[in-house]
Amino acid sequence: MKKYTLTLVMLAAALAAETREVRAARPSRARLQEQAVEAMAEADSLRRLSALQSAEIDSLQHLLDRTEARMAARNQTNRTVTAEQPVDPEQAAADSIASLQLRLQRKQIESTFDTNGLTVLDTLNSGNDALYVILYANNTWKYVRNRAVAKDSTIFEKYWDTSSLFPYQSVDMSSMPQSVVIDLIDSTTSYHYPYKGAVNPRGKYGPRRGRRHQGVDLPLKTGDSVYATFCGRVRISKYVRGYGNLIIIRHDNGLETYYGHLSERLVEPGTWVEAGHVIGLGGSTGRSTGPHLHFETRYYGQAFDPERLIDFKNGTLCRETFLLKRSFFSIYSNAGQDFEDEIANEEQDKKEAAEKAAMRYHKIRSGDTLGALAIKYGTTVSNICRLNGIKSTTILRIGRTLRVR
Ligand SMILES: [Zn+2]
Repeated sequence: MKKYTLTLVMLAAALAAETREVRAARPSRARLQEQAVEAMAEADSLRRLSALQSAEIDSLQHLLDRTEARMAARNQTNRTVTAEQPVDPEQAAADSIASLQLRLQRKQIESTFDTNGLTVLDTLNSGNDALYVILYANNTWKYVRNRAVAKDSTIFEKYWDTSSLFPYQSVDMSSMPQSVVIDLIDSTTSYHYPYKGAVNPRGKYGPRRGRRHQGVDLPLKTGDSVYATFCGRVRISKYVRGYGNLIIIRHDNGLETYYGHLSERLVEPGTWVEAGHVIGLGGSTGRSTGPHLHFETRYYGQAFDPERLIDFKNGTLCRETFLLKRSFFSIYSNAGQDFEDEIANEEQDKKEAAEKAAMRYHKIRSGDTLGALAIKYGTTVSNICRLNGIKSTTILRIGRTLRVR
């Protein structure tokens, strides 16, 4: 802010100096007029410039005010917690349950603004060492976790493996509680859709024809941006059989998100990312029959339906806090996705669609016989009988429609 104020003072001084020069020289009337016009134009552009800067100063001031208010609120909370006479514990429990219920409620939380390609104007201290503020050229700003300080969590150290997809072998999932409260976003973290688009109906999560699908498939165009859903650290960025170019991000709350079939990976293992960071480009690498994003959400390696968190069509997040129940995990959930299953399902779909498209019907007219129909449609009497559940001796009623192919 000092920088802006200083610039303003210097500009004002320069303007004043120029005005003094105009007076001192005592030139001709015409020249004077010319200079006056010039000075006015300059003053005008200076005014516009200073308006621009005061807008910047205003937004900075607004930012600082908000930060201060937050810090004050935080201190207040800390004081309440450490106060010798806490509030009625029952009331406190009821309050926290009520606020949790509020956070668990279904709502539509919009994606954070896109900062890709935005110039960073400044990075400011928030007053809290673990957080800083990034100010962007379009006057927007956001909190970012200071990763050098925010090391209180072991999430990025325990079971951390940048080569194996499934580092949780030693975890005993049977000891996991029936449900876990997972904060998806809070006042310092935001959300961005991985890709905005409809989930392919046959690419939904779950079992289908006895085959299981551990994520969702979102059709896209090769080269479309794929975004980090929440902030976190890239654990895996490599080519994996089946998944193709795969990125796995571990988030602060312990969730991991998987992004498969990418045409390009734009981040390396160990990189810290914010929600909305473009981590790769959509594609069709690995076992895939067309460009789509294979997106998974996992907790301790166990997959659950990503549509419980994200409304992909609207690109919104469904709630602030997610109650992850053990029952959401498939008992068949394992370390990876079998993409042969995905392809087998697609081939089966195609076969069924082709069969459906090839179906032919015939309306019985006087004189029709099964034998004549079989010749006409290049099939056999027994085939026609099978398709319609009739016998070769069945009397053909005029007007009845038979499937002949
Ligand atoms: Zn898939």
